[in-house]
Amino acid sequence: CRHQKEFYALHKTGREVPVRISIEKVQFREKDYYILAFNDISVQKQKQREVEEKQAQLQALFEAIPDCVFWVDNEGVFRGYKPTPEGKVALPVENFIGQRILDVLPAPLNQQLHEAIQRAIAEDSIQSVEYRFDFQDRTRYYEARLRRFSENEVIVAVRDITELKETLLQLKQAKDDAESAARAKADFLANMSHEIRTPLNAVIGMTGLLLDTPLNREQKEYVNTIRTSSDALLALINDILDFSKIEAGKLELEKTPFHLPTAVEECLDLVTPKAMEKHLELAFYISDDVPVHIESDVTRIRQILVNLLSNAVKFTDKGEVTVWVTAKLLPNNLYEIHFSVKDTGIGIPQEKIPTLFDAFTQVDASTTRRFGGTGLGLAISKRLCEMLGGRIWMESEVGKGSTFHFTIVASPAKEKLSLPQPEEHFLRNNKILVVDDNATNRQILSLLLKKWEAIPLEAADGFQALKILQQENDIRLIIVDMQMPQMDGAELARKIKQNPAWAHIPLLLLTSLGYQSRWKKENLFQAWLSKPVKPSQLFNTIAQVLHGKHVQQPVTTEDRPVFEPDMGKKFPLRILVAEDNPVNQRVAKRILEKLGYRPEVVSNGLEAVQAVQSAPYDVVLMDVQMPEMDGVEATRIIRQEAALDKKPFIVALTANALAGDREKYLAAGMDDYLSKPLRVDALKSVLKKCYEKVALTTS
Ligand code: ADP
Repeated sequence: CRHQKEFYALHKTGREVPVRISIEKVQFREKDYYILAFNDISVQKQKQREVEEKQAQLQALFEAIPDCVFWVDNEGVFRGYKPTPEGKVALPVENFIGQRILDVLPAPLNQQLHEAIQRAIAEDSIQSVEYRFDFQDRTRYYEARLRRFSENEVIVAVRDITELKETLLQLKQAKDDAESAARAKADFLANMSHEIRTPLNAVIGMTGLLLDTPLNREQKEYVNTIRTSSDALLALINDILDFSKIEAGKLELEKTPFHLPTAVEECLDLVTPKAMEKHLELAFYISDDVPVHIESDVTRIRQILVNLLSNAVKFTDKGEVTVWVTAKLLPNNLYEIHFSVKDTGIGIPQEKIPTLFDAFTQVDASTTRRFGGTGLGLAISKRLCEMLGGRIWMESEVGKGSTFHFTIVASPAKEKLSLPQPEEHFLRNNKILVVDDNATNRQILSLLLKKWEAIPLEAADGFQALKILQQENDIRLIIVDMQMPQMDGAELARKIKQNPAWAHIPLLLLTSLGYQSRWKKENLFQAWLSKPVKPSQLFNTIAQVLHGKHVQQPVTTEDRPVFEPDMGKKFPLRILVAEDNPVNQRVAKRILEKLGYRPEVVSNGLEAVQAVQSAPYDVVLMDVQMPEMDGVEATRIIRQEAALDKKPFIVALTANALAGDREKYLAAGMDDYLSKPLRVDALKSVLKKCYEKVALTTS
């Protein structure tokens, strides 16, 4: 017989060891013998204990689960179940044992579960099925999770997710409600803004007319106040409208190729007069790694930049405002372009920074009264940056100044726009002395000169410049800033001209005062440039000067608009500008003002029609793409308006400079066509044409 028994034996170390003893009887030479085999089974025992523990754990877990659990075979036949906890009725499984899911459960749940069972077995992965049951007048939601646990058996745990589902549905409903409320609010704002703008445009138009009538000094002052206040109100309403349009998701971005440096220069042009008034230095530098031709929404980029620049100039009383542009190559041939606008102004306290980009936030109401503004500019800028694939942030130190940064993501333009590229190597190894008291300006000029392979030498004032001239004998050109303390640019130039050793060195003047006849008479400078210095102009001017041409006249390169401030007197016209973008409005208004006109501005076609009905305009500069009513439609209506005793000359303004567009606009009743960005020369010749036509019809 074979016999086994387990017991504990005492090891010689004193430890108790579980032992299995096997006894076997054998016969040998007709005698019975017993073989006793002792086996140390501690490892086996330990394993067994672990298995038991695991099992107990699983059992406890199984019982603790609030879900309804059952198991089925690969045919979907119910094999067993765990009783459903009270109140949570998922499936009356107890009645189903031995039956097929396909037979006992309603469609389409039975089919869904059956398929999930097949998948759970075939893929050996957890499957999940969500379904709903109407139960006691209430819809309940369930989630079944299926997992294979043997060759052809699957365990199914069904959980009641009604509460979760209902909460989610409520949340979604609340979100939809909130969104539609926001949309309604934005729509309301848009409508209101339009309604307010319409009479306001009439006020502005009429004050314009009134200003053209004989008025005494006091009356003129009153009318001017009405006019500036209504202009300010209009700007505010336009900001609100722009903001609500963005909030309502109604703003669509354009994607057109453009020349980035030109866009930056145009933004600076807009703030130059204000900066000059406050004697601020304005400068910009676009680093070499920035692709100059990119595709993005140039109008919106300009809007952000003009916003930041206007703020920088507004909140800076002394020092400088500079723009820096760099870029980083991203995957897929995209660039992240980083703009920084740096000022040396009043700064912003740290605790105010987190809410700065929220709508209607201003750092301090007292500065607001001093500086004006709506507190919407940064909120709009933030949203525009995000739409352009970037972000906006800032750093600041109270009393020292602020730097606002923003990025956009753009692709390089496929077709390069034709713009003159500076000749390579023209300035290689030429020593050029830069005299400017402003360190940032010196830095920027040096960076530009180095880019063109020249050797820049920097002097922070006239005395230092004279010292450098004594030490260096082969300086080819001196770039002199006019406004410097102690010794100004003209005085330095005189000193240089008086020294025979230096008299031959050409001098290039940088100034924001215009070129004064005094210096012209003295023949002090070979050329001059107004600040902020534009790289292409600087390069061209240096080229002209170093080629020996004495440029007595102020240098005006083709892209520098020639303003004739008396055009408005020589060719008087009442001009209406219809343009929806606030920055473009300002550009058009400023150019026209510099030509001596006093234009009125409206923001869409509908307002243009109303304005033309209420005041006798000679010219309408009509943007083509505008909200509410586009320029083509507005032109059509104005042309049909038989009651108008005066037919304005309508000029289409558009960025759509495609072939065939001109014909399209002319066919719609427009008289001429100007492509954006507005070029002063083109505008001037169109206005002259208008004047001739107006003079013809009135004579
Ligand atoms: P607005 O200038 O129309 O009031 P913004 O949204 O453009 O509205 O600016 C919000 C506020 O942020 C400003 O009122 C001002 O207090 C502060 N701010 C913006 N830019 C600057 C800056 N460069 N320096 C100091 N404060 C600034």
